[in-house]
This record gives sequence, C-alpha cells and structure tokens, in this order.
Amino acid sequence: RDSVKGARVTVVGGARSGLAVARLLARRGATVFLTDHHPAEAGVAESLKKDGVTSEFGGHTPRALDADWLVLSPGVPTTTNLVQSALRQKKSVYAELEVASWFCRGPIVAVTGSNGKTTTTSLIAHLCAVDGRKHVVAGNIGYPLSDYVDDVDEDTVVVLEVSSFQLDHVVTFRPHVAVLLNVTPDHLDRYGHQLERYAAAKFRLFANLQSSDWLVYNHDDARVREHVLQWSAERGLAPVAFSADGEPSPGAFVRDGHIVLDLPALGTSPDGLGASPTMLRSEDLMPTSDLALRGRHNLYNSLASAIVARAVEIRSDVVRESLTSFEGVPHRLETVRTVGGVRFVNDSKATNVNAVWYALESFPAPDGPKVVLIAGGRDKGNDYEPLKRLVEERVRGIVAIGEGADAIEQELGPHTGRVARADSMEEAIQYAQLMAEPGDTVLLSPACASFDMYENYEDRGDTFKRLVHAL
Ligand code: ADP
Repeated sequence: RDSVKGARVTVVGGARSGLAVARLLARRGATVFLTDHHPAEAGVAESLKKDGVTSEFGGHTPRALDADWLVLSPGVPTTTNLVQSALRQKKSVYAELEVASWFCRGPIVAVTGSNGKTTTTSLIAHLCAVDGRKHVVAGNIGYPLSDYVDDVDEDTVVVLEVSSFQLDHVVTFRPHVAVLLNVTPDHLDRYGHQLERYAAAKFRLFANLQSSDWLVYNHDDARVREHVLQWSAERGLAPVAFSADGEPSPGAFVRDGHIVLDLPALGTSPDGLGASPTMLRSEDLMPTSDLALRGRHNLYNSLASAIVARAVEIRSDVVRESLTSFEGVPHRLETVRTVGGVRFVNDSKATNVNAVWYALESFPAPDGPKVVLIAGGRDKGNDYEPLKRLVEERVRGIVAIGEGADAIEQELGPHTGRVARADSMEEAIQYAQLMAEPGDTVLLSPACASFDMYENYEDRGDTFKRLVHAL
C-alpha cells in the first residue's frame, strides 16, 4: 500500500469507477491525472477539473506514466500497453476496489464467483434492510465503492460484489466476510484462455484474511473446495462451507428438506474453531420450500447468505423472513408473463454456459422437454458440451440469435427437437411461440454476451420483456 497525500497518481479508465476513485483520491490530497483512450463525453473533463483532477481522453500520452502509482478502472485489462509499461517500471498498479478499501471503516462482506454475485449481494443487502442494519451495496453491481466510502462508519456493513478483474489488482484488500460462490469458465478471453489464471484471480479474494474473518465457500465446487481447504490449513483459518449435497461443518446444508446451520453462535467468529469445535451450534433454520428464490443455484445463494447473516450478527428469525420475502433481481430467471399457457422467462443475465445450465436445471422435466430456449449473442469462446444432456432432456427447441448462432446450432442442434435462426428478438419470440405448447416455458438464457445486438444485457432483457408484454 502506497501513501496517498501528496502522491502523484494516474487513474486509467474514465468510466464510473475510474471517475469515482479519481475524485476520492483528489479529496484525500493526491495529485490525480485520469487517462482514457476513449473520447470524453461532454463536460466530463471540465467536471473533473472542478474536483481537482486533470485528465486526457482519446489516447494515453507519456504524461500518464509520470506518476508514483496507478489505479485501474475494472474495465481496463492488465494487457493494456500503458499498464504493461507501468509494471515494467516497477510502479504499483491497484484496482479501484483496493484503493477505496483503504478508506473504508465498516466491515466488508465481499461476494465473488463466476455466477450468482449480483443475486447473492442483493440478497445480503435485503437481509441487512430487513434487519434495519446500516449498510451500503457497492462494487461490480454498478456503484463504485469509491463513491460511498466517505459515508461508511464503523457500524455500516459494506456489501460488495467483486469481479475477478478487480481482484487482479488487490494487494491489502481484506474483507471481514469473503464469499466464493463458484468458479466456472467465464471471461477466459481476458485470462489467456487459462481457467487456472481466472481461478487464481477469484482466490485472491481471501489472500489477506485473518483467523477472525469468515471464509465462506461452496463445498460442492471441487476446484473451490480443494483450494480453500489447502489454503486455510496453511494459514490456520477455519473456513465455513455451504453445500446442497453434503453436510460439511462448520457450514450450512440441507437435511430432510430443511436448511441446517452448523455455525459458531451469534457474536462469535470461526477463530479458534479448530481448537474447540464445541462452539458450534446446530440449528434447523427453515424448510427449503419456503425459500423465495427457486432452483439449485439459488439454494446455494441462499445458503451462503444465511452464513453471512450469522457473521454480521443478524438473528435467525430475520434471516427466515428475508429468505422468504426476497423478490429477486431483474434479468435473472425473471418471469415476465404467461401468454396462451406459455410462460416467458427473461434470463438475459445468463451470459455464460454455466448460468444456462442452472437455468435449465431449475425447469425439471419429468414428462419430457418443456422449454423453448432462445440463446446466442457474442460468444466468449463457449464450450457447449456441459449443456448437451440437459438440452436433450428438457429443451423442445432452440431459437439461435446473434453472432454465436452458428456455434449453438452446430453444438446443441443435434440434441433438441428443432432449431430456428432469428435475426431479431422479435423474430426469435415469434419462432419460440410457434414451437412452444401450452404449459411450456420460453426461456431467454443466451449463454453469450449481448454486445453484438444490444447496449448490454439489461437492454437485451428489456427488449425481450417489452416484446413479450406486447404479444
Ligand atoms: P453474476 O452477478 O455473478 O453475473 P447473477 O446473480 O447476475 O450473477 O446471475 C447471473 C446468471 O447466473 C443468471 O442467469 C442466474 O440465474 C445464474 N445464477 C445465479 N446464481 C447462480 C449460482 N450460484 N450458480 C450458477 N448460476 C447462478
């Protein structure tokens, strides 16, 4: 960690997080220069100047390297020439999240994983809200921590969604509660197509944990489990597991249709658990059938959130109430409407193969396929193999869209009844309606990014919803 006051700092990337951290550092007495290779939006440079930040847009000049250290906005890859030059000159390069955390006084709950981050972060925020606890929600979810740290006091729980990009450049970042949901292939284009490098970024979430902190992990994800157990053993930490298949302890799991918590009592930490396992209290929290969020993936999200609740000292009756009342997040398996007996579900946020796997998993098909899947978009180097069995079992037909349509048709076509190609969402919905029978679900779960046809996944999901409402 470098000192801030009087330091000369370059912030790379002028989107939301970059702007926020530049202003934060200027407030804390640094001399801040912001550089972005995109042209500026109107008024941005002037507004930065007013806050004491000088800037350049439309390219990086040598001025950008005239700094003691650098901060990266999460959208900027490490491979950028400017960043590589800085690293060669042995300058420190930090993530926005790392820098913001230097000024954060409240306990941090940090959630990462390939899928489920936003859902789990929102569920934890909902728990805090129901409990009446002061909290802020920030990070990858769309609100940079840098914008909020000044308002955070010792009693404010900071619920952070953390992406692997941010974790690439953390050094001292230390959450009080770290949650790792899963590690499955995503964003491999940014990690030289090496899953190990991507996983290593995720694992950095707990690089600085101490024994009084909570390391919460998915026991059913073999890659995560093996790493966490080895890591914790080396450092004398007692990690806390969640599982849908086993009964790990300390942990949260399912027994006879009920969520069971085997956790340190309220007001204690996992610290010293190894020495005195008797500190654990076993508790029947609630039947899984009362959970507001459906599907196995959401069971994981709910179990993880229940452990976090214990860590930040929220009582079990509040947890029960929250897990029963949570309404979910838009664009994640969001039911839009039923038309002619066909249910339309918007899962536009399913931008990778694993998310689609869980989406299909949550539509059991004991009587044969009942899903018409709309999928495709910008392919991030997808391997569709893991979907084949579920597609065969549950998918009546596929409508392929966008740049990835070819790959989807070739890979998944042979495993389903019918495949159609559509050039627009409107056409996709028409084909899907033709394929679907009453009782079926038309599921938009693309497995791909949206940027070939849309601004972002929200835009894609909103378009789908608008068209479905117009049917
Ligand atoms: P993230 O913020 O990590 O992208 P979201 O909560 O936005 O995760 O969910 C993204 C997609 O992944 C959605 O399609 C959702 O249904 C699915 N999903 C949610 N939780 C999980 C999970 N624990 N494991 C796998 N997929 C999940």
